[in-house]
Amino acid sequence: MPDQTANKTDVVVLGAGIVGVSAAFATRQRGMSVILIDRREPGSETSYGNAGILSSGSIFPLNQPGLLGKLPQYLSNQHPALRWDVGWALRHPGWIARFLANSAQSQVKPRALALRGLIKASLKLHREWIVKAGAGSRIRETGWLKAWRSDNVAAAKADQAALTDYGIKSELLDRQAISALEPNILPVYSVGLLHTETASVDSPGNVTKAYARMFSAAGGEVRRAEITSIAADADGWRVVLADGEIRSRHVVVALGPWSADLLKPLGYRVPLATERGYHREFKPNAARPLRRPIHDAENAFLMTPMEQGIRVTSGVELTDRDAPSSYAQLDAVVPLARSVVEFGEPVGDVWRGARPTLPDSLPMIGPAPRHSGLWFAFGNQHIGFTTGPATGDAVAAMIAGSAPSFDTSAFSPKRYL
Ligand SMILES: Cc1cc2nc3c(=O)[nH]c(=O)nc-3n(C[C@H](O)[C@H](O)[C@H](O)COP(=O)(O)OP(=O)(O)OC[C@H]3O[C@@H](n4cnc5c(N)ncnc54)[C@H](O)[C@@H]3O)c2cc1C
Repeated sequence: MPDQTANKTDVVVLGAGIVGVSAAFATRQRGMSVILIDRREPGSETSYGNAGILSSGSIFPLNQPGLLGKLPQYLSNQHPALRWDVGWALRHPGWIARFLANSAQSQVKPRALALRGLIKASLKLHREWIVKAGAGSRIRETGWLKAWRSDNVAAAKADQAALTDYGIKSELLDRQAISALEPNILPVYSVGLLHTETASVDSPGNVTKAYARMFSAAGGEVRRAEITSIAADADGWRVVLADGEIRSRHVVVALGPWSADLLKPLGYRVPLATERGYHREFKPNAARPLRRPIHDAENAFLMTPMEQGIRVTSGVELTDRDAPSSYAQLDAVVPLARSVVEFGEPVGDVWRGARPTLPDSLPMIGPAPRHSGLWFAFGNQHIGFTTGPATGDAVAAMIAGSAPSFDTSAFSPKRYL
């Protein structure tokens, strides 16, 4: 196999989702030579299909104290929030046990504080980079509305109090206030909580692509190739591609839901599960636009105005990453979305993706425990589009030998490996 680059590159970043693109740009900004590799165009997988929310308030992962009480509702496999595959559950009892153990009350604060730091740093970078990348028109500072059909003021107030404890602002809304905020939706919601510090974008895939172009313009190289393996050599790494290999001093693994596969041959058994999710887009009624993403609290789906149409995203499907698709969960919520916002025919096919999740719902950001020059940046679960920039920037700082801009101790890969 030809050695395409006799000279070593400083950093090779594997995976051009939002995390990898961010790591590549941030290392390049620090003056290193960087190659970013993906088998697809940047931002074509999970970082394409998400709901595009840059969420200030997503500091409480799904495995929180309330989860245990909800489990009986989920057992029947009919709830829109969670579908699970029995075979998958039987094959992964350890992951499930650890995920549930992290729901304990004692686990709330340390994880919320860690995620608050990561999210804050990331939102700052997104707001700076999106302008620098020439994609400033894609960001909307209109917040994110969580809304309840029932008169569940108590739930909205509890959410608000929990956010306030961590300094995150929100506004409680009644039916009239929701109508004033979103005059074009039907009046199905009784109570709402507007996350005022949250932003959203009209195309997460195109924002990721814009960041990749910004990386190229800064002198970085984007290469399209299938990555087959990585191996340590005398003073760095060999990255083996389907069509050649690259030598590098540092390798950043940012392969999202595929990250664990590549690390297995090196002896790392990463407990990474995939919380799959679906979306479908629909032709909007141009005369009655939606202004911000809406999260239907009771039915666990989201509606987001995107460049191509109204994107409806589903809840969680716990199964193997590559198992055949099942559209039941999405099919169940599309009529509910139609009861809120007017939209027409589908635009394109159903999309399926996988949120990469570790048992504590915190990403791995930092050095590989047993290999120098190998860095982990994955596991960003439901908030990877939000947290990609700071995840990448933290790894870049570590490679450069400086301190990240936020406390990364909770994200150390050592906690599981
Ligand atoms: C339905 C849904 C809704 C979501 N909504 C939101 C939201 O509103 N806000 C938010 O912050 N987050 C959201 N998320 C989560 C977010 O999308 C992910 O956490 C994030 O995109 C993960 O980014 P990544 O860069 O780690 O992975 P990816 O974007 O998946 O990137 C990994 C890359 O690795 C490449 N790759 C993998 N294996 C190989 C190989 N062998 N060779 C070459 N290339 C390879 C892939 O092609 C891919 O481009 C949502 C997720 C889902 C599924």
